[in-house]
Amino acid sequence: MPYSNERANRLGHVPTVNNVAVQNAFSRWVITTAQTGDKSEIASLCRSLDSLPEGDKSDQVSFSITVDGSDQEVEVTREHPTIKTGYLRVAGSFVDLKNLQAAGCSAFVDPVLLRNAHQESSFDAALPGSGLILAGQSGVDTWRQEVTRFLSDTRFDDESQRTLADAILSMHGRPGQPATSIDLNVCPTCGGKRIEGVALAVTLSGGKCSKCGSALYLGDILRSHEEYSPEGSNITALTRVMNVAERLMTLSFMEHFYESQLAAEVFKQTIFITDGPLALYGTLAPLKRKLQSYHDYLSAWGSKKKLLAPLLVGIEKTGRFVEHAELIADRIPAGNVMLLTTAYINRVTGRPSGNDYGVDEFYGRRFILRTTSGDPLVITVPPKPGVLPYVGPGAEDFESYPLLRTICEVLDQVRTRLFPNAVIPIALAHSAAALPLGVGHSVLRAMAQRGLGLPQVSQQPRHPSVGFSR
Ligand SMILES: [Zn+2]
Repeated sequence: MPYSNERANRLGHVPTVNNVAVQNAFSRWVITTAQTGDKSEIASLCRSLDSLPEGDKSDQVSFSITVDGSDQEVEVTREHPTIKTGYLRVAGSFVDLKNLQAAGCSAFVDPVLLRNAHQESSFDAALPGSGLILAGQSGVDTWRQEVTRFLSDTRFDDESQRTLADAILSMHGRPGQPATSIDLNVCPTCGGKRIEGVALAVTLSGGKCSKCGSALYLGDILRSHEEYSPEGSNITALTRVMNVAERLMTLSFMEHFYESQLAAEVFKQTIFITDGPLALYGTLAPLKRKLQSYHDYLSAWGSKKKLLAPLLVGIEKTGRFVEHAELIADRIPAGNVMLLTTAYINRVTGRPSGNDYGVDEFYGRRFILRTTSGDPLVITVPPKPGVLPYVGPGAEDFESYPLLRTICEVLDQVRTRLFPNAVIPIALAHSAAALPLGVGHSVLRAMAQRGLGLPQVSQQPRHPSVGFSR
């Protein structure tokens, strides 16, 4: 508390940017993303869409499924401002692109047509922040169990019994062949390591460390507990769980469609959009290899059916690359896509020139699409199987991204003037993730209503409930 004659922090009253020290510093510093390089360099990284390798016909793509999440950490009570709880919501938003185009045909978007063209499903979770425990448990063990409960209890869509925990096993297997058990690398309790011979297998119902005998949980795969703090904010750990839940929702749709009689037809007609880059950061980063290998299997299956699958793209709404894209948009011809080389990325993000950007985190590569209407869009697109997006042969060749052309053509069609920096499916998914929703919405039902023959939904749970006593 300040003394009565004391003013607040001296800098607090002076706009900091007017401070001499700050002004002097700004005269020395350069904004990295503003170093755009010369015109010819950007031009050399651009290709027109019609010069890209021919993909599947983009007019076959009739549906989009966009997944977006939101999270926040809030004080539980006024009396205990340090006690926090985390909320997260993940929403899957389905858009019937043909009806959407009809809705946007006139000068103004028709709100009724727009509403009828989309449907969403979503799930919510509350996770314990610092100072909240299950009776008799430590904070971190509470976190581990509650994350696992969330994964085990959460169905990705109202019309399916498939849970996010099932999706973790699918992610560690192949399409249609989920893993039954996954090995952790480190015991969260004793630190015993698998490479030192400790057995650390977990299944849907958990596991047991062979060294210390303590319980292992499926959610330990996310390693979010490594960032859990018994005091202070747990927003980082919460965001990790949200990010993986978004990926698991998308994967659940893919797995559901794969098991359908009309799988080839559904994959041909559906584009999967992820909010943000196709990347997983921090403790989640090792999981990107699992996602990449799942997509590779799906892609190999698609090749046999003579189709490109899955049509997957990450779109960034905000951040460094979106700012940069706006800055250089005029240098990219409309209807062109720019491949961001690692050398280019390192320079505009202020990283050393030899830096291995994105190698550990990305399961796709970033491009900037300048739509025919002139707006820049920052996207991530997976490479073909056998190519890693940020390292090794082919990573920086347009030819390694056979989905690119089809994806860009679809996005070019759904770009909207309604929302700046957004394509309609992303904007709709974002509002679904941010707002309270009624119950009972289902993307699968909406797709079934459009005559897509999806697998019959079993009323029986796919597995008995995980063994937590409530
Ligand atoms: Zn142990």
